[in-house]
Amino acid sequence: MQTNFTLAQLADPDTAASEKILRACVHCGFCTATCPTYVLDGNELDSPRGRIYLIKDMLEHDRPATTDVVVHIDRCLSCLACMTTCPSGVHYMHLVDHARVHIENTYDRPPAERLLRALLAWLLPYPQRFRLALIAALPAKPLVPLFEAIGLKRLAAMLRLAPWRWPQRPLGPQTFPAVGARKGRVALLAGCVNDVMAPQINAATIAVLTRHGIEVVLAKGAGCCGSLVHHMGHDGEALAQARANIDAWTALEGLDAIVINTSGCGTTVKDYGFMLRTDPAYAAPAARIAGLAKDISEYLAALPLEPVQAMPRLTVAYHSACSLQHGQRVNRQPKELLGKLGFKVLDVPDGHLCCGSAGTYNILQPDFARRLRERKVGTIERLRPDVIAAGNIGCITQFAAGTKLPAVHTVELIDWATGGACPPALRAS
Ligand code: SF4
Ligand code: SF4
Repeated sequence: MQTNFTLAQLADPDTAASEKILRACVHCGFCTATCPTYVLDGNELDSPRGRIYLIKDMLEHDRPATTDVVVHIDRCLSCLACMTTCPSGVHYMHLVDHARVHIENTYDRPPAERLLRALLAWLLPYPQRFRLALIAALPAKPLVPLFEAIGLKRLAAMLRLAPWRWPQRPLGPQTFPAVGARKGRVALLAGCVNDVMAPQINAATIAVLTRHGIEVVLAKGAGCCGSLVHHMGHDGEALAQARANIDAWTALEGLDAIVINTSGCGTTVKDYGFMLRTDPAYAAPAARIAGLAKDISEYLAALPLEPVQAMPRLTVAYHSACSLQHGQRVNRQPKELLGKLGFKVLDVPDGHLCCGSAGTYNILQPDFARRLRERKVGTIERLRPDVIAAGNIGCITQFAAGTKLPAVHTVELIDWATGGACPPALRAS
């Protein structure tokens, strides 16, 4: 694609990076077929190619974001299916991230929208605050149908996602020693939402790793990966959270990996090198940390895992989270691990399409998110599985709000098969 940026514009490293991305696009439109929002409404402006044109026009003319641009960029899930499909290697993720920062800096959102976004940015990355919000949500959950009926869809969406149970306290910094001889040492990103909403995921991760001789450290000072605010265009906050994690993990010695069991976070940590490339103090440590980041399934695939207990031969519908399949290109390992441990694994048809979770998307875009969830849940239910497995808390929560099938993290099944406890969602079903 031809671009017309001035030399002065290209002196800005973010604009220079976006120009390179724009030039790689050849307008072929292959990406439209795999874009969930285009599949839903057939509008070119809700396709990757349409969004790329909108971003190009906005950045090239250095103009403030218009309402039309914001509507179509906000509807993008950042699922990155377009990146997997694109034959020209267009790095849509970096382009849309830049566009979101430009929107945040130049567009005046309506006050209610600004307030909601500020609330989410203040709440979600901080497990203690988030836990208190979940406690406050408990008595309001029965009011979801009422809120939906009177048009408070975003409030209804938030309450629908909150679990019915009392949220546990987040894990603090600590070390979980290896059982037996130590064969490795990793840092675990506990996650902010993950740790409070589904503590069984970290418990299973720690149990399976330590049982196989891996020491697990929750580093002092590590917190949210930054992706929640990064996807809202809050660049400064996202980079501050990334730097805090880099400092926390760099202070640990002898790490083999930084293990991440929330694939949305994994995609962001693996991108720290790019995010901090122009920061002289952090560029090198960020690249090093990004290189150490591994999804839990990638790390476990290199360990000698064996089933140690007689398992019911459960049929597992494996939902490949977008951030895992498109963001990190980790496709093989989760299914191979489950198959090796005795589960019957089914691929979900149209598996490239997002379930509609996408970080805060299911709160900020409740209609698109609901339609994507219904489509995905319908496809999965037709497979008649015993359980849904996914590698991301967002997808698991999204399913829990839309189907009676138990939905668990892949690592919960792996832990169970290798001697750990049965996942709570399966015990309850
Ligand atoms: S990231 Fe997903 S929703 Fe956004 S343009 Fe690409 S395919 Fe479409
Ligand atoms: S598939 Fe790639 S090159 Fe083709 S229109 Fe989409 S982003 Fe551009």
